[in-house]
Amino acid sequence: KLSPLNPSAAPATWLGVMGGGQLGRMFAHAAQQMGFKVAVLEPALDCPASHAADQLISADYTDADALIKLAAQCAAVTTEFENVSAKSLAFLAERTFVAPSSSCVSIAQDRMAEKRFFIECAATSGVFPASHKEINSDADVDAVPDDLLPGILKTVRMGYDGKGQVRVKTRAELHDAYAGMNGVACVLEKMLPLAYEISVLAARGADGKAVVYPIAENVHRDGILFTTTVPGPHITTASAEKAQAATLAVIEQLGYVGVLCIEFFVLTDGSLVVNEMAPRPHNSGHYTIDACVTSQFAQQARAMARLPLGDVRQHSPAAMLNILGDIWFEGKSDEAREPAWDKVLALPGANLHLYGKDTARRARKMGHITFIAPTLEEAQANLHKACVILG
Ligand code: ADP
Ligand code: MG
Repeated sequence: KLSPLNPSAAPATWLGVMGGGQLGRMFAHAAQQMGFKVAVLEPALDCPASHAADQLISADYTDADALIKLAAQCAAVTTEFENVSAKSLAFLAERTFVAPSSSCVSIAQDRMAEKRFFIECAATSGVFPASHKEINSDADVDAVPDDLLPGILKTVRMGYDGKGQVRVKTRAELHDAYAGMNGVACVLEKMLPLAYEISVLAARGADGKAVVYPIAENVHRDGILFTTTVPGPHITTASAEKAQAATLAVIEQLGYVGVLCIEFFVLTDGSLVVNEMAPRPHNSGHYTIDACVTSQFAQQARAMARLPLGDVRQHSPAAMLNILGDIWFEGKSDEAREPAWDKVLALPGANLHLYGKDTARRARKMGHITFIAPTLEEAQANLHKACVILG
């Protein structure tokens, strides 16, 4: 049994992160606040976490020398990037404490493995994924049952923010879509009648104790998260409890250590369908920084350090708006201009988080704003005003 890590020890205790994006940056802020030092392994030099981390190891995620260096430096390592090679995490785990484990991450990296795992969990979780069929050939397309159409063809690996997905109505469209996937493994999912989407953030410690955050309701635009509202305005208490219990069942069955987020669909008939999971803090959990006693990033640091998990209580209603690079551009213009932050920050309860990315690009996640207010209605109204200001 591993003992807890001391955040204030001299010499310092280092926590490591695979990946230097915004999740690594916000993790660094939270871990440093607690007294840890943070090392980031990431190939890109000018990444968001590079400005926050105490050390940047600039190398490929599979570079053995860099992995050895990270493991030697850090008493525990986590990942913020879902598609880090599971082999790299296993390699690190031979040398230091790694959470979540490579086996958990590898399930989340593969939509088929993930769906099989959700089905295995169904007896205790009470939820199933959407009806689906694996597609690895044109013959598989021909064998798709009619009732899976219309559907969504997704790549089994590497999909995110709606990338690697094509919506198809007919078998002919499915053939075309599959032909466009360059032979990679795919899965066809039945198109479900969504009433709304939720996500459930949970964390589990090395001692097996788990905590679950309130239900977050998510709105996507063009496959990318647009807003997260907590508490979810639409969800019933019964569905919320069901989704939280399902998440705890899954995290337990995984034997997971760290922060995990599961996305669910609530269908028009009120039923709950499990969509996918992220083996890390999640965009829909950013509201926890400003609205919960313990943020998802502080929670990740606690889990890695085998310290007691923190209180998940939400102290204020919250509405989070993702900031994409699009708002730097007026209409179709390619000339970037700075958004009107002064006007946005004049709104009550606005917490601006920008990730330090120096180049704005359309559809690129540049930051987020969380509106905190005494009531959810006020938080939502201020988010709406921000949308009008930012255009
Ligand atoms: P990503 O990894 O890109 O987040 P998702 O599987 O979460 O991929 O799909 C992105 C979005 O597409 C979902 O949030 C949801 O809005 C929509 N979507 C995905 N699968 C289905 C489905 N089976 N039926 C209806 N909508 C879906
Ligand atoms: Mg998703």
